[in-house]
Formats: sequence, C-alpha cells, structure tokens
Amino acid sequence: MASIDIIKNKCVGCKKCVSACPFGAIEVENKKASIGEKCTLCGSCAESCHFGAINFVRDKIIKNDLSEYRGIWVFAEQRKGKLKSVALELLGKARELAEDLDTETVAVVLGHNIENLSKELIAYGADRVMVMDADWLSGFNDQVYGEVMVGLINEHKPEIVLMGATSNGRSLAPCISSALSTGLTADCTVLETDREERLLLQTRPAFGGNLMATIVCPNNRPQMATVRPKLFKPLNPDYTRNGRVDILPASSQIEGFVKKIRDIDNEEEINLTEADIIVGVGKGIGSQKNIQLAQELADALGAALGASRPVVDSGWMPYCQQVGQTGKTVAPKLYIACGISGAIQHLAGLADIETIVAINNDPDAPIFKLANYKIVGDVKEILPLITDKIRNKKS
Ligand SMILES: Cc1cc2nc3c(=O)[nH]c(=O)nc-3n(C[C@H](O)[C@H](O)[C@H](O)COP(=O)(O)OP(=O)(O)OC[C@H]3O[C@@H](n4cnc5c(N)ncnc54)[C@H](O)[C@@H]3O)c2cc1C
Ligand code: SF4
Ligand code: SF4
Repeated sequence: MASIDIIKNKCVGCKKCVSACPFGAIEVENKKASIGEKCTLCGSCAESCHFGAINFVRDKIIKNDLSEYRGIWVFAEQRKGKLKSVALELLGKARELAEDLDTETVAVVLGHNIENLSKELIAYGADRVMVMDADWLSGFNDQVYGEVMVGLINEHKPEIVLMGATSNGRSLAPCISSALSTGLTADCTVLETDREERLLLQTRPAFGGNLMATIVCPNNRPQMATVRPKLFKPLNPDYTRNGRVDILPASSQIEGFVKKIRDIDNEEEINLTEADIIVGVGKGIGSQKNIQLAQELADALGAALGASRPVVDSGWMPYCQQVGQTGKTVAPKLYIACGISGAIQHLAGLADIETIVAINNDPDAPIFKLANYKIVGDVKEILPLITDKIRNKKS
C-alpha cells in the first residue's frame, strides 16, 4: 500500500503542493502542510515540493504476465430481461477497440430468463456472448455479481472490461477491480488504444473538468473503465451477424453465499437516462414543495424528472436525478429547463438534445443562449399553465 506524510520540519508552507493536488486534499495552516481525508494516494503532489517535505512511498509494482489476457468484455447490464442502452453503446465502442487490437468482443450477461438477449447483443457487435442464467441472479446485487464476474475474469482473462456508469455499474466495477487488484477509470469520455503496448487509453475530465487526463493501466489486467450512458452511439444492429453463445454453468459455490438478492429499484435512473422527455428542475423552483409542479408536468408528458446540483445539494431531490458533470449524462429529444441558469457543469450532462425549452425569470440567463424556446417568467406560474394545456390537449 502506498503511503504519504509531510515531514513538518522541512515544510516551509509555500503551498506548491496545494495546487498540485487534484483532490483538494492538502491544506496549509500556520505555514505547515497537512494531508486530509480526501487523499487518494495518487502521488501527484510528490514531485511538487522543492523542500523534500513530502514523503510519498509508491506501491511496489508487480508486473503480472499480461500475455495471456485477450479479448474485450462488455458487462451487458440488463433489468427485467431488457438490456440497458449503455450496454449496446459500449458494444459499438468495444468493436472499434477490438478491431484495433485484433481481438474479439465479448458481452457478458448475468440474470434470469435472459438467454434471448444473445441475439440482440450479437446484432449490436458482440462476437461472443457469455450468459449466466440463474434465479439467484434475477436481481442485481453488487457482491453476488462481483463474485461471479471475478470468477469469470480469472478463468477467461479478458484484457479490457467495460461497464456502464449506471448506479449498478458504479457499484459493481470497484468491487471487481479491487478484488483483482487492477485499475479502474470511472466516467471515461474517450476510449482509444495503444496497439503496440495493447493499452487502453482512458480519457476523462480531471481537475474539476478543467483538464482531460488520459489514464493507462500498464501493469495489471484487465484494464477496466466505466462510461456514462448516451456518450457513445450504438452500432446499427445487424441481425444477420453470427456469434458464439456460451451458456455458463451457474456457480453453485456463489449460490451458497446468496442469502437474499437485493433488487435495487432504479426506476428513476431508467427514466432519466433513457427518457425521451426530461423536465429539469433548477434552484429557481424555489422550494422542495414546488417540485410537485414540475412532477405534474412530467406526469402529463410521460417525462422523467432531472435536477441541477443545487437542487440535489439542498436535499430537494435525490442524487440519482442530478444531471451534469458530476451527475448523469442525458440525451432526451426534449429538455424543459425550469429555473436552471445554464451553468457549464449542468450543460455538460446534456448530450445531443433536439429541443430545449427554458423557463427562467431572468431574460439574460445563460440557458436562453441554448434554448430553442424561451419563456421569461416565474416558473411557479408557468409550469401549471403548460401542464393544464397538455392535459387539455390529451383529453
Ligand atoms: C466541479 C463542479 C461540478 C458540478 N457539477 C454539476 C452538475 O453535475 N450538475 C449541475 O447542475 N451543476 C453542477 N455544478 C454546479 C454548477 O456550477 C451550477 O452551480 C449549477 O448548475 C446551478 O444550478 P441552477 O441553475 O439550478 O441554480 P442557479 O445557478 O442558482 O440558477 C437558478 C436560476 O433560476 C432562475 N430563477 C430564480 N427564480 C426563478 C423563478 N421564480 N422562476 C424562473 N426562474 C427563476 C434564476 O434566474 C437562475 O437563472 C458543478 C459545479 C462544480 C464546481
Ligand atoms: S510544497 Fe512542500 S514546503 Fe511547500 S507547503 Fe507543500 S509540503 Fe510544505
Ligand atoms: S497523494 Fe494525491 S490526493 Fe494525496 S495529497 Fe498528494 S496529490 Fe493529493
């Protein structure tokens, strides 16, 4: 395990290390630096101190035999027998990477009554589908799914494993990577390869989005990355494609560990990342009570409800509904921004939206620069008017 500490009698309080830390983990008080809880032991600050006051000890690098690892796996997340869109998006990207590395694309799907998904996975780019079908896999549980995936990875040795940055993917991926002592890059926005070194170049925003960092995992396998839904486009499905389907025996060992499989209800997430219409709620809504006004519009339109970060930070809506740089990326056909200013970090979560309607009482709000339809006024008055119109039209 790496370690870090500040040698206090060498520290002169120059603060160079503070700006070198991407996680805001260093504070300088009374001319002495100290490392806080946010430290991830990334080592970025190690070289920044000209006074030899940072004692950073790196992990011993154990170089494993990487030559036996081949193939690109996509964890094909499904819910109730329906594939998540991100699984198909990742398969398209995996095909591209597999062609670069001259290897195969494998979709791994776990669940119950899911064998029929193989055809779709092959049509969207899988050369091979590995299916584990068991009643105890019917609901997602990160420990159970993690055990299964770790067993499969140890047995089949893929060189790359890609997963959707959904709430299930976000909890499953670190379970696997830590069990296998390999690297994991979350929320990648670009995935490329270095053919010669057979490396996955994993690019993602760093330093609060001000820089793009490309991360590699040279010493361990598999190389693991998560990607948010809607970032990549799926291939056009080709149902004439042939592929191999391996029905895997459900591991009885793991079944023994399964006491109760927790089915996390992700209705919100399904709605948000896959919705065609989203009503986005911003701080301008004024209070938690007023969110009901947006909910009524969403219900009338069959839309999902999204939120800006201040709305989530205020506890008015849960984090799973946050849109933006540190929330979800969404790509509905219609986005109705209600009392949202249009900060860059919020807009970072809006991809490929056909139509934006913005309601804001400030005619100079930045969101109006993007909006196709602009409504200047009090969102609390305007929302019920639109909802009524839609209800009347429907009836
Ligand atoms: C590293 C980092 C990551 C971030 N990640 C995210 C993220 O993922 N998602 C995100 O959303 N933000 C994120 N933010 C925060 C972001 O910078 C903005 O602060 C945030 O998006 C603003 O949210 P808002 O538009 O709801 O609130 P505000 O900026 O407060 O805007 C409220 C808007 O409502 C309007 N308004 C007020 N009253 C009314 C009314 N009665 N009727 C109509 N309009 C009204 C105002 O004119 C204003 O335009 C991040 C910030 C940082 C630094
Ligand atoms: S860079 Fe070195 S001397 Fe300067 S504050 Fe940090 S630890 Fe202290
Ligand atoms: S090791 Fe990384 S996270 Fe920890 S203080 Fe240094 S730069 Fe910050």
